[in-house]
Amino acid sequence: MLNVVPDLSDETLRSLVEALTESGQAVCIFDAEDNLRYANKTYQGMFLGDYDGPFTFSGITRHAHRNGLGVRLDDGDVEAFLARTLPRRRILPRKSFETDLVDGRWFWIDQSILPNGWILSVGADITALKQNEKALRQAHDAALRASQTDPLTGLASRRHILEQLDGMLAEHEASGLSVSIAVIDIDHFKTINDGHGHDAGDTVLRHFADMCRERVSVQDRMGRMGGEEFLLILPGAVIDDALRTVDRIRDRFPPARLVEDGIDLSYTFSAGIAEALAGDDRSSILRRADRALYAAKGEGRNCTTIGVAAE
Ligand code: GH3
Ligand code: MG
Ligand code: MG
Repeated sequence: MLNVVPDLSDETLRSLVEALTESGQAVCIFDAEDNLRYANKTYQGMFLGDYDGPFTFSGITRHAHRNGLGVRLDDGDVEAFLARTLPRRRILPRKSFETDLVDGRWFWIDQSILPNGWILSVGADITALKQNEKALRQAHDAALRASQTDPLTGLASRRHILEQLDGMLAEHEASGLSVSIAVIDIDHFKTINDGHGHDAGDTVLRHFADMCRERVSVQDRMGRMGGEEFLLILPGAVIDDALRTVDRIRDRFPPARLVEDGIDLSYTFSAGIAEALAGDDRSSILRRADRALYAAKGEGRNCTTIGVAAE
C-alpha cells in the first residue's frame, strides 16, 4: 500500500478545504446532531441557494423543496421523504446511491459515517452518463420495435409472429386453450405488380393489413410472413371461429374495391386454416395450413380451406 505520511499542517488543511470548496463534486459534512458543518459551492448550489438557516438536514431539505432545489421527490411529499430518510441516515457505516435533482441533474452520492458520528457526503455529477444510458435504452427499444414490426404494413414481422405462434402453442399444450391459425395469400398479386407497378402492389398490401386490423378481435395476432403472405393467429378459436373471422375479412372482397388514383386495384385472397392439435409445433401446424392454402388456390382462389392432419 502507498505509504502517505499525513501532513495536517494548517497550510495543507487550508489547501484541502479550498480545493474541496471549488470542486465540481458536491461535498458536505453533517455533525452527529445533523447540523451542516461544511458545504462546498456545488452542494450549496444544489440545496441552499440564499438559505440562512436553520442548517439542519431537515431544515435544508424543507427549504430546498419549497424553493425548487434539491432532490426530486416522486410524490412531492417532503415530510414523507424525511420520515423515510431520517431513521436510515446512520444505519450503515458507508453507502452509495444515485439521486436525481429537481433541475434534472443526476448525482452519485457516497456517504460515510465518521467515527465521531458525523456524516461525510460526496456526490459526483453523473448526468451525462444517465443521458447516455437513456439514449442507449431508447435506441435498444426502437431497434426491438423495428425487429418486431414489418415496416410496410405495420403488422408483426415474420420472426415476431412466429415467436407468438410458439407461445400460443405452448399455452395450448399447457392449458388446452384452443388455437387456430390462418395462412392468407393474396391472389394473382404478381399481376397487380406487373400491371400497375410495385408501388401499387405495396398499396394493396397496406390496404389488406388495414382491413384485417379492423376485422380481427383484440386478442388475435397478425403478421406478414413475406411477400403477399400473412399469418393470423386466433387464440381461443376452434376451426369454425377461424372460418368466421376469415369470412369477416373476406366480406369486403368483393364488392369493396380498392381504387387508387383512378386505378382499380381490387383483389381477392385465399386462406388455409388449421386448428392446433396436441403435440403441434410451428412447422406441423403451418404445414397443415399451407397445404390447405394450396388447396384453396387449386379450387379457384378467393376461398378458404381447412387443413386436416395427414393420415
Ligand atoms: P397466387 O395467386 O398463386 O398467389 O399468385 P401470386 O401472383 O399472388 O403469387 P406469386 O408468388 O407468383 O407472386 C408474388 C409476387 O409478390 C412476386 C414478388 O415480386 C411480389 N412481392 C414480394 N414482396 C413484395 C413487396 O413487398 N411489395 C410488392 N409490391 N411486391 C412484392
Ligand atoms: Mg399470391
Ligand atoms: Mg405467395
